[in-house]
Amino acid sequence: MSSERIERIQESGTMKMKALVSQMRKEGKKVISFTVGEPDFETPRHIVDACIDALNAGMTKYIDAPGLPELREAIAEKSVRENGIPCEASNVLVAPTKHCLFEALLTTVNPGDEVLIPDPAWVSYVPFVLMAEGIPVPVKLLEGHDFRMTPEEVAKHITPKTKAIMMNSPSNPCGSVNTPEDIKGIADLAIDHDLLVITDEVYEKIIFDGRKHLSIASLPGMFDRTITVNGFSKSYSMTGWRLGWVVAPEPIFSGMSRVQQTTITHPPTFIQKAGVAALKGPTTMLDAMVKEFQKRRDIVDRCLKETDHVSAPKPQGAFYAFVRFDEKVTSTMNDEEIALYLANEAGAVTTPGISFGPSGKGHVRLSFATSTAEVEKGMAGIKAAMEKL
Ligand code: PMP
Repeated sequence: MSSERIERIQESGTMKMKALVSQMRKEGKKVISFTVGEPDFETPRHIVDACIDALNAGMTKYIDAPGLPELREAIAEKSVRENGIPCEASNVLVAPTKHCLFEALLTTVNPGDEVLIPDPAWVSYVPFVLMAEGIPVPVKLLEGHDFRMTPEEVAKHITPKTKAIMMNSPSNPCGSVNTPEDIKGIADLAIDHDLLVITDEVYEKIIFDGRKHLSIASLPGMFDRTITVNGFSKSYSMTGWRLGWVVAPEPIFSGMSRVQQTTITHPPTFIQKAGVAALKGPTTMLDAMVKEFQKRRDIVDRCLKETDHVSAPKPQGAFYAFVRFDEKVTSTMNDEEIALYLANEAGAVTTPGISFGPSGKGHVRLSFATSTAEVEKGMAGIKAAMEKL
């Protein structure tokens, strides 16, 4: 009885592997989960307290759909100051990050429009495009380019039907970070071909080796054609709070607001107050978290270099390594079989690369958003398992 639209959407590969971890643990097996994209840190205390205070102050009622004015102001101020995006609070819509992306596509894509998406990409982009009845067009991210989305690859896929380019840097699942030249090149393509850019910047703060995040909406001529999506989940360890935002020009902002009015109305009022505390409060915990992720990244990178049959560029941001297996392995096992082999043999559960798009074939995604001790143990297990092949 499901619609054809929904029939085209597959179950999320990451959720499947998360379920495998739960099942193996239920069976009493010791497993290390390299699956979820969720920081293993507590939400900072001042953010939790702001939410409790808001509840105690009675902030439990409806507010305007685009969000709490104080939060929209704080997001606009942050976007101007940190990202150089020439926006105002009236361009800011507050919603769970996933919903922001869904609203963005529903608002801008007509049936049959082509939307360029990175391949591999985070699992939800293809479903979002399909639900908007657009056509997802994969743009290959090449290992030789450290899995960056390059203007050269984007240009190969632009046709008269192209409506938008989706970008995600730092990237899930690749841990890659686009260079300023990549971003400028993609902006030039968007301007030359009159395209929209939808940029998912949720990992902007989790970036290594002193790199600087660059928002494409800050480049000349780009604000009016860019939807910037961001959120609190990763930077502030707030995954369960379901809070994010979008910065969009008119008339896209108004269209997205209409989708929001008719669907979720707005995220809980007291949760939005916690968002204000996150943006205005101390960044001590964020700085410590990024340092810790970089330390784990170094462990993962070193261990992978010592492991037979695998290769992966050194992750530059987010908390993922995208690991390729050589012919010896891929000639006898598909991605799911490789992930199952690692789960059973090494007690390390990863996500099959094919879940992230056709170019993910022959890979697994390894999330190092788990404790340093577990990362070390899991990587040693993977190394030993690969030696057996
Ligand atoms: N974009 C990317 C690239 C992500 O990895 C995720 C979460 N895994 C999201 C968006 C969604 O974030 P949230 O869970 O805050 O909705």
